[in-house]
Amino acid sequence: MATQNASERTGARMPTRRQFLGAGCMALSGAALGLQSQRLGAQSSSAAAGISRIDPGFIGPQFFDEREEQALLEVMESGSPFRYWGPGKPTKVLNFEENFAKHMGTRFALGVTSGTAALDCAVTGLGIGPGDEVIVPAYTWWSDYTAVVHAGALPVFADIDSTLNLDPKDFERKITSRTKAVIAVHLLGGLCDMDPIMEIARKHKVAVLEDCAQCVGGSFGKRKLGSIGDVGIYSFQINKTMTSGEGGAVVTSDPRIYQRAARFHDMGTIRGLFLDRSGPDLEKTFAGENFRMSELTGAVLGAQLSKLDTMVAHLRANGRAIYDGIKDLPDIRLRHRPDPEGDIGYGVFFEMKDKTMRDRCIRQLREKKVPAGTLSGSVLLPVQESVINKRARHPDWPSFNSPHGRQIKYGPDCCRQTLGVYDRFVGVRVGPKYTQRINDYIVDSIREVYKSIV
Ligand SMILES: *Cc1c(COP(=O)(O)O)cnc(C)c1O
Repeated sequence: MATQNASERTGARMPTRRQFLGAGCMALSGAALGLQSQRLGAQSSSAAAGISRIDPGFIGPQFFDEREEQALLEVMESGSPFRYWGPGKPTKVLNFEENFAKHMGTRFALGVTSGTAALDCAVTGLGIGPGDEVIVPAYTWWSDYTAVVHAGALPVFADIDSTLNLDPKDFERKITSRTKAVIAVHLLGGLCDMDPIMEIARKHKVAVLEDCAQCVGGSFGKRKLGSIGDVGIYSFQINKTMTSGEGGAVVTSDPRIYQRAARFHDMGTIRGLFLDRSGPDLEKTFAGENFRMSELTGAVLGAQLSKLDTMVAHLRANGRAIYDGIKDLPDIRLRHRPDPEGDIGYGVFFEMKDKTMRDRCIRQLREKKVPAGTLSGSVLLPVQESVINKRARHPDWPSFNSPHGRQIKYGPDCCRQTLGVYDRFVGVRVGPKYTQRINDYIVDSIREVYKSIV
């Protein structure tokens, strides 16, 4: 598996992105390890000699097969890579949207070019604009912040807790009369505590946007993530679950949100197919973007969607095996998982007493070739220079020029709890193709390191 450093895509200015995969890079393929005949038992330090590396790998590409190839060939042979017309009859994106909505349990799905584009469409769908405040977790990916700023609205940060996601109590504390929405981000394969979040949001009439980019295929009870709030978004970039390299989707069951999102993704106009799905036109044309998904992307995603349950089942089984193997360690504080069955098992996370212990733990796990690291794949937003200085694309941008926008102060004081959580947690990546031997080896290694430190 070619493990490419994510910084090649995001550029050197985003060094904190996806360090887990960085951790994976220094290690090897799980499949290769599985082939080794040496029995890896509890004496892991000697057994470690036989391990060249453990690589969780990128998830979706490990499931590429002739289904993706066949679907791509069909698009090429029909000469119709554009979703609306061509010499053939393009149906890939159309079918993908129908099947994705069915899978997620929503009335509508819209395919777009990225998760970031999906956020822009969802924020537009909710009618968010200048004067509005949107609550965003202090630790998440840039796009949750930029989508709010691009809409001219004001991002207000709330802390994360031991779910590694939005702290419902801090969410409620941050609500004002101007709060229009909250972005509940399901980070690192684990879900937000959706019961209190939904209850607080409904009580204060705040819309809920679920960002499921890092938890595609996750669920909460019987409901798929993305279908619980008013609108949900997904990313199909390579670091997520199912993938087409780049891509995204918006889901909702609300026709007005759907029509506004569909309009925004296509210059502000709307095509018959979206009205056929959602009923009479509820909006007028407004200035939009072009975030249309290509048939090539739709082809790959259609094939990947048919394997999403399998990908998640593999990840979950491995994640559960590792959690089960370490949960009896004395005083261990595991990530709080509001629904452990719904977690997609992207990683295993536990909390040390302080940063020094966390760093020692990560170092020792890495010496054993376990893909361990700090929390990663997101950014501590309130302490970023561009955020502290409230820099938008123009100095007069409405977000930071409203009375409250001028007053608001970002920086470490608005996210102390988040900075503490970030400093104490250790994460170990889980791969969908780990064998039982790898899971056992990781469990033994964590047990050994934990006991030697605590
Ligand atoms: C990846 C990601 C996005 C953006 O998705 P892209 O497809 O990379 O634009 C949004 N939110 C979160 C939480 C993400 O991890």
